[in-house]
Amino acid sequence: MGKVTGFLEYERTPPSKQDAKLRLQHYNEFVQAYEAEEVNREAARCMDCGVPFCMSGCPLGNVIPEFNDAVYKADWELATTILLSTNNFPEFTGRICPAPCESACVLGINKSPVSIEEIEKHISDMAFAKGYIKAEEPLIRTGKRVAVIGSGPAGMAAAAQLNKAGHEVVVYERDDTPGGLLNYGIPDFKLGKDIVRRRIALMEKEGIVFKCNANVGVNVELNTLLREFQSIVLAGGSTIPRDLPAPGRSAIGVHFAMDFLKQQNKRNRNFSVDQEAILATGKDVIVIGGGDTGSDCIGTSNRQGARSVTQFEIMPTPPKSRTENMPWPQYPMLMKVTSSHEEGCERGWGVNTKEFIQDENGNLKALKVVDVEWDIDKTGRPLNFKEVPGTERDLPCQLVLLAMGFLHPQKEGLLEKLGIELDNRGNVKAEEGKYQTNIAKIFAAGDMRRGQSLVVWAISEGRETARKVDEYLMGHSKLATKDGIA
Ligand code: FAD
Repeated sequence: MGKVTGFLEYERTPPSKQDAKLRLQHYNEFVQAYEAEEVNREAARCMDCGVPFCMSGCPLGNVIPEFNDAVYKADWELATTILLSTNNFPEFTGRICPAPCESACVLGINKSPVSIEEIEKHISDMAFAKGYIKAEEPLIRTGKRVAVIGSGPAGMAAAAQLNKAGHEVVVYERDDTPGGLLNYGIPDFKLGKDIVRRRIALMEKEGIVFKCNANVGVNVELNTLLREFQSIVLAGGSTIPRDLPAPGRSAIGVHFAMDFLKQQNKRNRNFSVDQEAILATGKDVIVIGGGDTGSDCIGTSNRQGARSVTQFEIMPTPPKSRTENMPWPQYPMLMKVTSSHEEGCERGWGVNTKEFIQDENGNLKALKVVDVEWDIDKTGRPLNFKEVPGTERDLPCQLVLLAMGFLHPQKEGLLEKLGIELDNRGNVKAEEGKYQTNIAKIFAAGDMRRGQSLVVWAISEGRETARKVDEYLMGHSKLATKDGIA
């Protein structure tokens, strides 16, 4: 433990952000790195708990008290070693993880939790700057070949671990650039694409091959893959968005969030956008859906110069902060205010969409909505809702973005042709902990298996799956388990 009394002496230092007016003028990251003194103080706040709940809160099992100690002592090399022992890509999680570790931090019971995510970002930035993170080719090659389908964080983590074990890894990606949602989905202002490119370049140096514009099951023959590779990892993500089949859904100006976000990611790189441009400029925008994707639509709409941005969520208003009778560490979902909300947006909870109203040319001109009231059970769980009489209203808008989550992976093509069994939610069926599908040599990881989730879970599943593939190919594995045991 770095400083025994640190948690008593210091309050949490929130990372400084560029002023909202200034950051709305660009798409770059705007959260400033801690100064040396700030990160030292923040690490000193760690209580080094006997039972580190933060570690069990982290899907990767990051060894948080130990890296906090190393950071407090400014031993960046040791901090890097500890962090990389459980997490292949701390430069991603340090920027965009919702930090379940912080929700589980014991200091959070009485004070603000340790700012673990910012510390992680600081370690990874220092590690790259000082050359502690560098390409490391495996010393021996096993002669076995593994194909990874999908280059998001799950596919990347599986590839990195399998390559470390000495297997020859080829990653197939149907998009023009690797990275999955890190690349085409999550806006640049949350995660700069230079950060993703830097990691891909490093993995290529380590011997991993990325094949882009390679849609397996469409322009890449499955039989060739099955013949040429001893094992296959499916990491294609959860790509089918939830729709809102209200009257008028076909109005011009109603779009899925991902179509909108991906276009802006492409524009930022001067890549051509092959479909009709979806732009918020000068429009009244309504975002339907209150999660991360919805927030990213707000930030992007404001940067494009929307006239107004409103976000609706059908669920009831969540509590703003923790109250004393809430259980720890399993609080109910609290109201999340993201940096995109801070930049400007009206929010409404308990609002249902009744109709997309069109003008005579089929263009969207308004959204008919109504307030709803929820029946809540004893544990606070919303059960069902009814409309509040007299609250129906038409709200003028020219762009509606549907951000209500994702249902499951695409079945046509890859999964259907392979004959992969699906679970009752439509995700790839592969038991957690085993990750093997109904076809022995084929494994699955990330959103394609667990349903829409988080980057930290995708990395965790990619690592775990790699170990199972390694065991399948070699009879045993020396890759680290979640508990860090090799
Ligand atoms: P993906 O990242 O979806 O990658 C799958 C890849 O597989 C894609 O590139 C796809 O093109 C490719 N693919 C699919 N089928 C084929 C095929 N047949 N052949 C070749 N390639 C194929 N999580 C967070 O933790 N923090 C956030 O801030 C956050 N923000 C988000 C914002 C948005 C807009 C969205 C949509 C999600 C966000 N998430 C966030 C969730 C997170 O991005 C996902 O949980 C994570 O990316 C899942 O990783 P994955 O590797 O399983 O799949």
